[in-house]
Amino acid sequence: MTEARKNEPKIDADEVLNGIVEWVSIESPSHDAKSVNKVVDHVEGQFRDLGLKLERIPGRDGFGDILECKTPAQWSHGDGKGILVLAHLDTVHPLGMIEKDLKLRREGDSIFGPGIYDMKAGGYIAYYALRHLLRQGKKTRLPVTFLFIPEEEVGSPTSRARIEAAAKGHKYALVMEPGRDGDRVVTSRKGVGRFVMTVKGRASHAGVRHEDGRSAILEMARQILRIEAKTDYKRGITCNVGLINGGTGVNVVSAECTAEIDLRVPDPRTAEEMVDWFLKLEPIGPDVEVKVEGGMNRPPYQKDAGIAQLFEKAQAIYREIGKELLDVPLTGGGSDGNFTAALGIPTLDGLGADGKGAHAAYEQIYYSSLVPRTYLCTRLLETLE
Ligand SMILES: [Zn+2]
Repeated sequence: MTEARKNEPKIDADEVLNGIVEWVSIESPSHDAKSVNKVVDHVEGQFRDLGLKLERIPGRDGFGDILECKTPAQWSHGDGKGILVLAHLDTVHPLGMIEKDLKLRREGDSIFGPGIYDMKAGGYIAYYALRHLLRQGKKTRLPVTFLFIPEEEVGSPTSRARIEAAAKGHKYALVMEPGRDGDRVVTSRKGVGRFVMTVKGRASHAGVRHEDGRSAILEMARQILRIEAKTDYKRGITCNVGLINGGTGVNVVSAECTAEIDLRVPDPRTAEEMVDWFLKLEPIGPDVEVKVEGGMNRPPYQKDAGIAQLFEKAQAIYREIGKELLDVPLTGGGSDGNFTAALGIPTLDGLGADGKGAHAAYEQIYYSSLVPRTYLCTRLLETLE
């Protein structure tokens, strides 16, 4: 090895970890725009220091700001459509978790913290990857756009349009969501549907005029059994009534009941079939009204030829460090990658750090995954063309 090679900067696991810890230290629950914007400020400063062109789109509907960072033209060999890197800066954890159940700490190979796995580690890895290329004096073949999302964990209601607009102007999408089960990434995801069912019955005194009432809760109970029975693991369909609300008093036949339903489907055809089924649901009992609102929130993300090709490139990069990269079977969890893949943009997801416990009180990343994952992201940015 020559002197010059020896002095070349290396991907340093501790350096990567320190950067991740800084991001995690700023807690950022999706519904707390002020807190999310604190981490946006931090990330914005880091990208500004690197010399990227920034655009910050003010948040709305109580969510934080969207941050877009673009590499200047002279940094890449080619122009035209480039690489879109997607990461979200919000987490599902309420403020204060960092002092309670999810204290920032290291135990062996695991580092714990709110949102560390889903997905501040991934976001930081992407930043570090670009910085690493720059300090090596290297360029990317394609221009790179980083898009940081403030409310992915609630379905990206205020950023979806921006993500889709950005995707159309790019050749590839790299999504920095958590890595999986060892050296695995994500190349397909189920579609996600959301529905609200409202049942209207008729109130009456439960003791004096029970026979006059039409219980909305009873009707909802029947509807729930019907809905849950549509779950079909073989076909990859799940229906979950996750929230229910109804009634005004224990001695009142309930006049109204609402339920919120989560649907997961493997492909667009099943999505259409199930949405149609939900919207046509009718009352089961007499003298009650049933209304269903909703539809698909994230379209299915299917592994097509373009995605398979992009995945093969990633596998080749991973082999440079003597490791084999795999993908997970169709996952039920949605991400912003669903939006880009549904538009036909080759999308590789799950590029963040490996770990476990997304959304849980034992959320953690594995220190040993930081160097290989950062290497993968660095080389993707460098070599995609
Ligand atoms: Zn996530």
